[in-house]
Amino acid sequence: MAKQWSDGLTAGAGLPLTWVLAMPLLLSGISALSLVTHLLQAHPSGNGEGLLWLALLALGWAIAQGLWLNRELLRCLRRVDGRSRDLAAGHLTTGLPSDSPVVEFNRLAHSFNQMAERVQASLGRLQANLSDAEHWLAQYSQLSPSMNYTYVEVTEGDASERQTWYEYLSAAVTEIGEISVEAGLRDANAVRGLIHPDDAAGYLAAEMACEQTLSTFSHQCRIVTPSGRVKWIHNQSQPLRRDDGTIAWHGVVVDISSYKQAEAALQESETRFRQLAEAVKEGFFVYETETAQYSYVNSAYWKIRGLTPDMTTNSEAEWLASIHPEDRDRVEAALVHERQGKHFDQEYRYTTPNGELRWLRSRAFPLCDDLGTVVRVVGTVEDITDRKLTEVALRQSEARFRNAFDNAPYGISLVAATGQFVLANAYYCALLGYSEAELLTITFKDITHPDDWADDWVGFQRMMGGKTATYQIEKRYITKQGEVIPVIINAAPIYDDGGKPLYSVGHVQDIRDRLAIDRMKDEFISVVSHELRTPITAIQGALALLGVGMYESRPEKARRMLEIAINNSDRLVRLVDDILSFERLESGQVQLEKELCQVAHLLYQAIDSVQPLADQSGITIALTPLTATLWAAPDSVIQVLTNLLSNAIKFSCPNGTVWVKASTERLDAADSNLSVLFTVQDYGRGIPPEKLEVIFDQFQQVDVSDSRQRGGTGLGLAICKRIVQQHRGQIWVESEVGRGSTFSVALPLVQGDSHD
Ligand code: ADP
Repeated sequence: MAKQWSDGLTAGAGLPLTWVLAMPLLLSGISALSLVTHLLQAHPSGNGEGLLWLALLALGWAIAQGLWLNRELLRCLRRVDGRSRDLAAGHLTTGLPSDSPVVEFNRLAHSFNQMAERVQASLGRLQANLSDAEHWLAQYSQLSPSMNYTYVEVTEGDASERQTWYEYLSAAVTEIGEISVEAGLRDANAVRGLIHPDDAAGYLAAEMACEQTLSTFSHQCRIVTPSGRVKWIHNQSQPLRRDDGTIAWHGVVVDISSYKQAEAALQESETRFRQLAEAVKEGFFVYETETAQYSYVNSAYWKIRGLTPDMTTNSEAEWLASIHPEDRDRVEAALVHERQGKHFDQEYRYTTPNGELRWLRSRAFPLCDDLGTVVRVVGTVEDITDRKLTEVALRQSEARFRNAFDNAPYGISLVAATGQFVLANAYYCALLGYSEAELLTITFKDITHPDDWADDWVGFQRMMGGKTATYQIEKRYITKQGEVIPVIINAAPIYDDGGKPLYSVGHVQDIRDRLAIDRMKDEFISVVSHELRTPITAIQGALALLGVGMYESRPEKARRMLEIAINNSDRLVRLVDDILSFERLESGQVQLEKELCQVAHLLYQAIDSVQPLADQSGITIALTPLTATLWAAPDSVIQVLTNLLSNAIKFSCPNGTVWVKASTERLDAADSNLSVLFTVQDYGRGIPPEKLEVIFDQFQQVDVSDSRQRGGTGLGLAICKRIVQQHRGQIWVESEVGRGSTFSVALPLVQGDSHD
């Protein structure tokens, strides 16, 4: 049932048109009648012709006036008609003229013009609004292609007996509901019945509320289409009360399912993000540069900063103020860069409100608007205290290791499974004569003696293959200079994360000295055992002969045997004394007791002790003494001088002379210290040049018969050398075979000690 529009216009004041039209005729009739009556009274007998003419005249005038009025009226009506059409078509340009001699026409024209103006004005407004609405619709429909759905719904009655029908439904509305337009117009329930049962009550309540106040209805709810699909719609409509009391709703319906989906997805992703942000142990923050406030921080953030969420003191300034002064400038400079769009990544020390010092690492990513201005900063903050402490500890232990590695008194090398050098310490490099850089370009095969390589490689591979835990080998290296060096290597693997041997670290000991000492010891033992055996055999033999009473009848022979035994036991005593004294000196057991002693006194004592020996051979000892004081162990110096003198006597020709001299000398031009130089010179058999050095080693003699014939042990000069060394002095010999020898001992004389 459509509502009928009444035109609502009321009749204006004034004469009705019928009156206007009838008036002149009535007047003319009246005047013609009165004229005829007058004439008939004045001229009862005739003269009726004149009266007739007069009546005709009045009639003619009346007709003419009626025609004029008719024409005028029609003209006016046509004008109104024409202008009304123009107005209806929207082309009204000029108003009705108000120049009619009839005042009503002029009033009509005036009223029409006023109305036309108003109509035109409101039409203009309507058009403007319409074009606005169209523009808005067009815009919106660009955003949402499902937008342009309109309906006009009319509701009648109160809540209990509401009736609803649709006057207009765009095809799109029914498309959303998946029903036909006809069905929708025929049965309002075909549309309203689509509302999801759970949402229907809410929809109705909201609608009723708007209806009462005639306010805009804006509602979102779900519908279920006949095919069973659930859709989200947005209904935006305006209720209007019509004159007949019904409420007309004009509105649009939009399918917002995809928005709802997107919204749900967004919400889900935000929930996920929050869950994630709360789960991570790194602090997470979102900082708004415009408001200079943190718009989001996760719980780890509070913990790392040592703050609690109820604290209101979470500002950037407070953060900066809590940074260690030594780190603050650097962080602030990075912050300036960040605000210009650069990434921020800083490690710094930070003090929590309760005074705990922590190492933090902050990383932040500025987000810019279209103009490139940083509007937001998203970042993380991490507590790296443990890592930093570990780093420090690691650095220290690395430094300690490096120090131990570099300064180790043995070689350390690290080689890969291929034998390639990876690392070598200073000792190792020095031993091999290569620089570390040179070593890193070769393998250990290149420096291994070819004869030792096969065994070496087998052992190395067994260890690197995991068959043995360590590996040891005594082998020979060949240095860069070609020298062969015997070494002992102890190697162990360094494993990778999977427990597989990755490198081999080897400790290398140069065993040249050890081998030399071993050799010397072997020689020493064989010599000593031989030297000891000789006198013992002689003593044993002599005593055995005496024991069996072989020489009981020959006392001369028996005495000779006893002499041999005594001489050999003397020799044995000397030998044992020398060995013990040498061993004591060699092992550093004896610490020489130094004191101030007179050089001359030392010389006299030494000469006294060898005088009987000299006398035996008729040797003269010539002395050039010196008055000086030495800081020395006197007994040891006397032992040296005695030994040199007894050798000189032993190896001199009979009745010769041995010269003994002491003087102060400057041994070296560069040395500012003076030395006391003792020289013992003989004119005996001399020493061949190749023996000049070795006679200072133990058991070294120029001639194997020297010990037997001259009663020596071969230890004398070795003992002298040790004693002189312990005085930080020097001993040497100059000699010419057949012409004699000169032994020199120089002992340092500290300035001020000299008393000459
Ligand atoms: P020994 O007890 O045999 O003398 P030394 O060590 O004192 O032992 O001397 C070692 C060797 O040096 C001697 O055996 C001898 O061959 C040689 N020698 C030492 N002094 C002289 C010397 N003045 N003239 C020649 N040869 C000497």
